[in-house]
Amino acid sequence: AQTDAIAVADEPARTTDGTHIVVAANLSSVADAVTARQVGADAAGLIRTEFLFLGRMEPPTVDEQEAAYRSIAETFQGRRITFRTLDIGADKPLSYVATAAEANPFLGLRGIRLALARPKLLHDQLDAIARVASDHPVDLMFPMVSTVDELTTALAAVTRAQGLRVGVMVEVPSAALNARALAPHVDFFSIGTNDLTQYTLAAERGNAAVAGLADPYDPAVLRLIDCVTRAAGDRIDVAVCGELAADELAVPLLVGLGVRELSVAAAAIPLVKQAVRRVDMAAATALAQRALQQSSARAVRGLCGRL
Ligand code: PEP
Ligand code: MG
Repeated sequence: AQTDAIAVADEPARTTDGTHIVVAANLSSVADAVTARQVGADAAGLIRTEFLFLGRMEPPTVDEQEAAYRSIAETFQGRRITFRTLDIGADKPLSYVATAAEANPFLGLRGIRLALARPKLLHDQLDAIARVASDHPVDLMFPMVSTVDELTTALAAVTRAQGLRVGVMVEVPSAALNARALAPHVDFFSIGTNDLTQYTLAAERGNAAVAGLADPYDPAVLRLIDCVTRAAGDRIDVAVCGELAADELAVPLLVGLGVRELSVAAAAIPLVKQAVRRVDMAAATALAQRALQQSSARAVRGLCGRL
């Protein structure tokens, strides 16, 4: 019975005109992979590998990482899985990585910045991922990239196993604005709307006092997403893996902006697939164009609610 339930949940999500939108899962543990498959995840669009590194006294070994990554790959049975390299620092410090105190941790040594400053951590992780990529379809992406130089430095450390695709998260406004310059180096973009919103509106995520400002429906955020899909053209796949992708109302808007993969928490997968099946591409494209012309998040939400 469970196999039947998975078979139904596994039906691909297509818009009314037949465009396939990949509905993928965000994972923060090996156990999450099992749950995600049970609800029909087409892929794993964001594996937050920090789970292996946090709450311990020393970094996981390459073998330990390989075992965890392999277990996720096996659960996904040949479906694409996307490892994000370590995204720590700032609010997620590691006891075994000494860093100076920072006045503005979200603007400090985090994500790819920390990984490049501590190459052994990054290289071990890339080794473990490469081992799994030798016999599973694996995507790799880097978090918090703000310049082309950071991306090319990180890419220089990657062993290009066959079938390994590389991508970059777009979650800093400079990365969205420079998407055309990043594009030649990658196979895909994955937009992290949580951080992208925080940095675009200069409103700290999770800070209740500015929660009203940190709205991913803000036209400024949408214009940055539009920059990315335009720069991607037909060659590069664009995913959204921030919370916005799990919002039913945002699904037509994101698809209309050219996004072709939505990566969300497992619990949201069935609803997001249903929302995709209701999307009429012509209406979604028109909605996105109108949304880009609005002057407030409230106005954009109004448009989305009416569709
Ligand atoms: C994001 O910033 O949107 C994202 C998906 O990454 P995280 O939430 O892990 O920072
Ligand atoms: Mg992020």
